[in-house]
Amino acid sequence: MPSFSELPLLPTLLESLEAQGLTAPTDIQAQTVQPLLDDRSVLGVAETGSGKTLAYVLPLLHKLKTLENGGSSVSEPGKPRGLVLVPGRELGEQVSKVFKTLTHSTRLRVRVALGGSKKKVARQSVAGNFEVLVATPGRLIQLLDGDDLHLDDVRTVIFDEADQMVDPGFLPVAQRILGDCPNAVQVAMFSATLSQRLDAVVSSLFPSNPVRIRTSGSQRLVPTLKTENVNIINGQRREPLIALLREQPAVGTMLFMNTREQLDKVAEWLAEAGIPATSYRGQMDRLERRANLARFRDGEVAVLLATDLGGRGLDIERVGRVINVHLPQDIDNYLHRVGRTARAGRSGLVVNLVTQRDQPLLARLRKREEKAARRSGR
Ligand code: AMP
Repeated sequence: MPSFSELPLLPTLLESLEAQGLTAPTDIQAQTVQPLLDDRSVLGVAETGSGKTLAYVLPLLHKLKTLENGGSSVSEPGKPRGLVLVPGRELGEQVSKVFKTLTHSTRLRVRVALGGSKKKVARQSVAGNFEVLVATPGRLIQLLDGDDLHLDDVRTVIFDEADQMVDPGFLPVAQRILGDCPNAVQVAMFSATLSQRLDAVVSSLFPSNPVRIRTSGSQRLVPTLKTENVNIINGQRREPLIALLREQPAVGTMLFMNTREQLDKVAEWLAEAGIPATSYRGQMDRLERRANLARFRDGEVAVLLATDLGGRGLDIERVGRVINVHLPQDIDNYLHRVGRTARAGRSGLVVNLVTQRDQPLLARLRKREEKAARRSGR
């Protein structure tokens, strides 16, 4: 689809997109907006960086504004009409930012209720009248239990990065949330990967068979991504890594390791070599994690060290290169990691330090790419 204006969206939304320099919808946006506008349930599988957020933000705002234009405004506090569930705080903040780029013109109100901040803050956040809530499931349940929030006017529920949410405890929580919504609620789910567990969740949560949308690039590495494999001997990662970073010091680079111990070790090497770097990993104070991320985002340091927690969902503009200092064991983690770069059509580079032990992963990746290429006729 060459232009957003071919989608039946309100002129205010189209103007805001244009003002942001967004002219053509991405694949997932072109396929998802219409079924969501038509009140269908949707399961969208798309690669990270594909523009998934706007794919649901646009139809949601369109529908809520149209309701309001038709004379039905939100008139009671704590009763959202659109609900977006996210697995974690960082993604929640990112999603709310995307909403905010469009809400100044529509004058719809977006609130967040995310884990990781004080409950009081979330309660205050949902105290007034607003249309959209972006929430983590745990925080949402607390607000429901505390009678701070009511879901009986919700028209659409979106689960974003659903593959990150579907641990065994997720289903009862999701059922509780949907149980509080009206029967006719529209449900949509977005995920970078599709697993059996997610499939099982979909069949028990969705009121009807969803429209399944899978972009041709999903589960594939994007064409603007270049991959370099550097063969090394296990235990001898330090020299090739330092050489790579010295060769191209200015490129925003994410280094991935599998464990905290590996991350600490690599941090030590870089400090010794005088290469400024910062870290993003689990078991780190939330404020510290955010401050470190901000330093990388703002370009203060060019190197960010991460474990797989950092590979999930973060939309960071500055990642020109991902280096897998230690390759992960499974393909999903690999796809999430490399999805940090080459986002939305930009070019990106992934460098893998490859030992003998990593050969099975590379072989599986190759096979998968070949299969996907055959399927899409590319
Ligand atoms: P997402 O997959 O939603 O995290 O989006 C990834 C990136 O793509 C974000 O930086 C968006 O601003 C950007 N993006 C989303 N939609 C478009 C579009 N239609 N054209 C160009 N960039 C886009």
